[in-house]
Order: sequence, then structure tokens, then C-alpha cells
Amino acid sequence: MFLACGSAAVALLIACVGFAWYSVDTLCDAKGRLLRDRAEIIAFQAGPALALRDAERGHQLLTSLQTDSTMEEARLYGNDRNMLATWGEQKSVTAPVYAPKGYRYIGFSQVEVVHNVVVGSQRLGTVYLRANTSDLRARFVEFAKIVGFVFALAMLVVLFLAIRLQRAITRPILELTNTAEQISINADYTIRVDGNAQAELKTLQDAFNHMLDRVQTSEAAIQTAQNQLEDRVIARTQELSKEVRRRQEAQVELEAAKEVAEAANQAKTEFLANMSHEIRTPLNGIMGFTEALMNDESDVSLEDRKDYLATIHRSGSHLVELINDILDVSKIEAGRFEPERISCSPHQIISDVVAALRVQATEKGLQLDYKLASSLPQSIQSDPPRLRQLLMNLVGNAVKFTEVGSIRIVAGMSNQASNQLQIEVADTGVGIPHEKLEAIFDPFSQADTSVTRRFGGTGLGLAISRKVTEALGGRLTVHSEVGAGSVFRATIDTGCVAGQSLVESANTPTPTTNAPEASDVRFAGNRILIVDDGDTNRKLIQLVLRRAGAEALTAKDGLEAIHVTEQKHPELILMDMQMPVMDGYSSTRELRAKGHTLPIIALTAHAMKGDEEKCLEAGCSGYLTKPVDSTLLLATIARELKTITDDTATIPVFAIDQPQPNAIDSICSSLPMDDKEFREIVLDFVERLHQKLVEMRTVQASSAFPRLAQLAHWLKGAGGTAGFSQLMEPAAALELAALEGSSASCNTHLATLEQVASRIVVPNANSC
Ligand code: ADP
Repeated sequence: MFLACGSAAVALLIACVGFAWYSVDTLCDAKGRLLRDRAEIIAFQAGPALALRDAERGHQLLTSLQTDSTMEEARLYGNDRNMLATWGEQKSVTAPVYAPKGYRYIGFSQVEVVHNVVVGSQRLGTVYLRANTSDLRARFVEFAKIVGFVFALAMLVVLFLAIRLQRAITRPILELTNTAEQISINADYTIRVDGNAQAELKTLQDAFNHMLDRVQTSEAAIQTAQNQLEDRVIARTQELSKEVRRRQEAQVELEAAKEVAEAANQAKTEFLANMSHEIRTPLNGIMGFTEALMNDESDVSLEDRKDYLATIHRSGSHLVELINDILDVSKIEAGRFEPERISCSPHQIISDVVAALRVQATEKGLQLDYKLASSLPQSIQSDPPRLRQLLMNLVGNAVKFTEVGSIRIVAGMSNQASNQLQIEVADTGVGIPHEKLEAIFDPFSQADTSVTRRFGGTGLGLAISRKVTEALGGRLTVHSEVGAGSVFRATIDTGCVAGQSLVESANTPTPTTNAPEASDVRFAGNRILIVDDGDTNRKLIQLVLRRAGAEALTAKDGLEAIHVTEQKHPELILMDMQMPVMDGYSSTRELRAKGHTLPIIALTAHAMKGDEEKCLEAGCSGYLTKPVDSTLLLATIARELKTITDDTATIPVFAIDQPQPNAIDSICSSLPMDDKEFREIVLDFVERLHQKLVEMRTVQASSAFPRLAQLAHWLKGAGGTAGFSQLMEPAAALELAALEGSSASCNTHLATLEQVASRIVVPNANSC
């Protein structure tokens, strides 16, 4: 609008100025001409006055001009340039000069005219007139007013037109501007310009809207791309953080694994150092004393020689124990550690261990006590060699790591769980640092290398012990304080002990594991058939039964058992299940098939899961495991025969003998050796043992594994029966290895058996 009005104003102004200029010029010219015409009239009339030089007349002529209010002065000159007459206010007296146009403006306020007075052809003088321009000014003012009015009117018209124009032209542009402004503020590309403009502006609006469409589409595409990008960034960030977390975890695991590996490496180094020390020490003893015996025959007394030999023997035994430990660990690691479940007396095993370690404890000036926290069942279902091994290790460690004070063994049934035997071994020894309490159960780990250096050891015992307790259905835990001592607590599962007779006090004399105890059972000449291919077994059971007042018949295999049964009609059969010619299963089935209903009690050295069911399926009415626990045997037979226990007429089957080893490494039978008949059985077994071992070596060399398995099986049963439970585990291992046909394992187990056998001593009565 400003531009439209401004340009119109300028144009108008120029027009007005031009018009004014023209008008002023025209008016001025008209005024000049008018004044010249007057001068001409005066000049025409002034001829006579000039000719006559009549001043009065001249003056009157000039005075006639006074009717014109603008006239200011009039003069009349003669040819001599002398002024003849004058009128009005005189400004100068000099004769005026003729102007080319006939008039001349003095400034803009006055105009003057000079005109010659000519009469005929003679010039008589000159007329001079001077007038002001007040009339012109009045007209100019009037003119200016008109021009101003016209200008204002024109401007109003221009303004009106500009407003109309604005509607048509600038409003669409304004709308475009507003729309663009709103879009830029709100970033809203959905707004559109209303399309009511005309022609080019309509095109402009359409182009603008089209551009907005494009922008909106692009914006949507950009938004979609941005959303997708954001989604991808989020997904990628999540992936990355997962990856980072995974790597962090992996790093933690790697670090832990590295620490474990370093610890294992350290443990391995320490283990190798300890092991070489543990092997070297007994080897040095063996080498040294054998050399002394070889070189120094004459000087050494018989007493010293015995001493030397005992030391060599002890060192050898130590090496065997070491190797056994390593074998145990390898068995555990290979997952081939399966305990047996047979009847045994926990009290007896603890007593044996205490007796075996008492010598060492006494030598160190330590008190070794064994107490019962509660009464113990006479027998439990467990693995006696493993239980003994566990206790030997716990009590052995207690003795080893205690310098002053005492070792206390407390056994009892657990209050917290049913059928759990709890054995606690407490000492007042060096103790174990808190942070090592778990590590000591790892294979090859020891609590403190400096302590170990002082006491020796390989770090295998507790690892084996923990596995043993777990395999026996319990746990092994420890509480310890450095300098104050340690308490190891082992629990094992006892199987069902309901109805068992109880051991009330640790001091109560008790029977050995396999030896028949002083029994209250008394048979009235009942006829019992013992079927067993093993002489030792047969003889021993025969003796036990005979002493309990029964009549004992014997058979060597299942076939013979059928004959004896049909001829002599026994009241009960004790049937070994694995025998040559005909085994116990077939024999029992045959007897049942023939209609014999007498009780048949299975005796088996297998004691594996499912064996009992197998025996009962074959027709057996009872099941006992070897080595035979005489108390259990007599009680079972009494139950089957419904024999009444006669409390008043208690006749001990034989005197109780608690064997005391004369040397830690010697192995004595747990049967009462002061009893002549038992001694004979044991002597007989030992003799057979050596023969069988030679045979085992021979068949092992020729890889006759089935025969080797048979011999091992015999040894497993007969060894236990003869009171040498130490033979049972290696014999069982040998049997398994022979069945598997593993020559290397057979060799190892056979070597162990030979080593155990070499330690067997059959003392004179009461000296073992
Ligand atoms: P070893 O006795 O052959 O070293 P073990 O596995 O039997 O191996 O014991 C591992 C470690 O546990 C021992 O080296 C010893 O540091 C610690 N330890 C075991 N029993 C005791 C105890 N009664 N008192 C103190 N420390 C013990």
C-alpha cells in the first residue's frame, strides 16, 4: 500500500509541480503583457504631453493608473532621458532600460515595463511602469489550494484503489506469508493455503501447496527413516550392551578360570613337591636299610635286623597307602567309585581305628578318647573298608596336626536325620585358616604349605574322605580355628537299623566285625546245611553254628546241596550264590521246584544293588552278605527257625577277642586268635591265600580273566570271612577289573592284594 500510494503521490506531485510551473509562467507572462499593454496605451496618450513638455498633463495621465491596485509607480521620460512626470512611490530616478520582452520581473515581487512613445515616426520619449505581484500571489494561493485539494482527493482515490488491489494481490501473498510462518513455527506440513486467488497468484499458491506436499512427503519419509534409524540404533545399542555384558561375564569367567588354573597349577606344584617328598622319604628308608642289611651282615644284631626290616616294611606300606590314595582319587575322578552295602559294626570299626592310631598318639604324648554321644546300633548297612578309610584319615590327620592336647572321637546317631550315624573327630591341633576350610577338600590342596612341610602329606586324604562320606550317604564338614584345633564331622547313612541291638558305651567290649559275638542264641540241635565252595567259609560257619548248638551239614555246590537236602532233610539252608557246577540261584530254584519249603538264606559277596531282589526271586527266604557277621547270621537263622532266645542259659559261642596290632602295618585277623579252632581256620585261609595269589599271578600273566575273576571273588568272600576285611576291597576291584578284561588294572589290584597279604600276620594266641 505504501508503495502504491507513494508512487501515486510522486506522480501527482510531479504533475502538480509541472502544472504549477506552467501556470505561474503563464500568469507572470500575462501580467507582464498586461502591464506592457497599459504602458503602450499610456505611451499613445502621452505623445502630446511629451511634445509639449507638459508635465501636468503627463502627471494626470499617469495618475489614471491608480485604479489598478497593483500599480506602484509610473514615470514619463522625454527624449533627453529627463523625467517629465511621475506617479507613485519612486524607487530610483535613473532612466530604465528597455527589456527585450517588453517587461522585466524584479525578483518575484515586482514587474516593470519600459515603452517608447512614438508619434508617427518620431520617438518622443519613454514610459516606465512598475507594478507589484500581489494579485499573482493571491491567485497562486488559490491555485495551490486547488492543487492541494486535487492532490488529496487523488491520494484518497489511490488509497482506495490500493486497498482494493491489496485484497486482490497482497492478501494471497499475506496468506502465503502467514502459512509459511506457521509451518516454520509448528513444523506442521499439513497446513495448506486457501486457494481463492486469481491468475498468477493462484499459480503461486498451487506451487506453494505442491511444494508443501513434497515437503510433507519428504518429512514423512525422513520421519520414517529417522524412526527406523532410532529403532536400529536402539536394537544395536541393546545388542551391543548384551555383547558387552556377555564379554564382561566371559571376562569374569575367564578371570575366575585363570585363578582356578593358577591355583590348580600352584596346587600341582605343591602336590608334586609333597609327593616327591612323600615318596622319597620311605624310599630312602627302604634303600638305606636294605643297603645296611646287604653290606653289614656280620655287625648287625638280630634285634637290629628285625628293626630294619620293620622300618622297610613300614616304608613299603606307606608307599602302598600313597598309591592306594592316588588310585582312589583317579577312581573318584573317573566316576567309578561305588561303595558296597553290607552289615558291619560301626563301633567295631571306630574301635579298630582308635586302636590302630593309639600308638602314634601315645608316641606324641596325645590323649586319644573315644566316646558315644548316644547308643549305636550293633550293625549298620555300609561299606566297612571305606568307613575305616574315612576314619583312619580323619583321626590320622588329627594325630598328625596336633602337637599337644588331645583327640576326641564322639559317635552317635544323628538327631537331625533318621538313620544317620554321626562321627565327630575333634583335636586341639594347629587348626585351619578360615579361608582354606573348603579348599582342603579339593584333591591335592593343603591348608598351609609351611604346616604341610612340617607334617608331610599329599592333600588327597580329605578329598577322598569327602567323596567317601557322600558315597556312604552322608556329609563331611569341618569347623576350625587356627591355634585352637579342628572338628571334623562325618555323617553316613546306616540303612534301616530298627530292631538292632545297641552298643551303649564306647568302653563296652564288642565283637570284631566278622567274628561271631557272644550270642544269646542257642539252637536245640537244629540241622542246618551250609552250601559254599569256599573251604574257609564253610569251616567258619560250621564252627559258629556248632558252637551255637546246631548240627551243621555242608555241601560244596548247588548240586550237592540238592542231594544232601533230599537225603538229610536240613531245617534251613545257608546258600552261597556263586559256585561252580551249579550256582545258588539254580539250586534254590530246583529245590523250590521239588517242593522244598524250608528257609533258604542267601549268602553273597556281591552286595550290589538288585542282588537281594535277585536272590528272593530265585526263591530264597533271606539274604546275608559276606563276610558273614556271626551275630546277624545267628539272629537271622533263629528268626527263620523261630528259635526262642534263652536269656537264662546264655552260653557264649566263643570268647571275645579284641585284636591289638603289634605293629601298625601288620594285619591280623579280626577272629579270636586265642581260640584254637578259629586260629586253624585263619591259618588254613592264609595258606590258601598264598597259593591262590600265585595262581592269580599266573592266570593274570596268561590273561585268563574269567579264572582271575573267580579267584578274586573267592578272595573277596573268604578274606572277609577269615577276618581280613582289608583284602575285600582290592579283591572286589580285581574281580571287576578281570571282568572288564583290563590287564593294567588287574596288575595294580593284584599288586595291592599281594602287598596286603604280605602284611598278614597270624600271631600266637593273644599276641596280634
Ligand atoms: P594331607 O594330610 O595328606 O596333607 P588331607 O587331604 O588329609 O591331606 O588334608 C589336607 C590339608 O588339610 C592338610 O594338609 C592340612 O593342612 C589340613 N588338615 C586336615 N586335617 C587337619 C587337622 N585335623 N588339623 C589341621 N589341619 C588339618
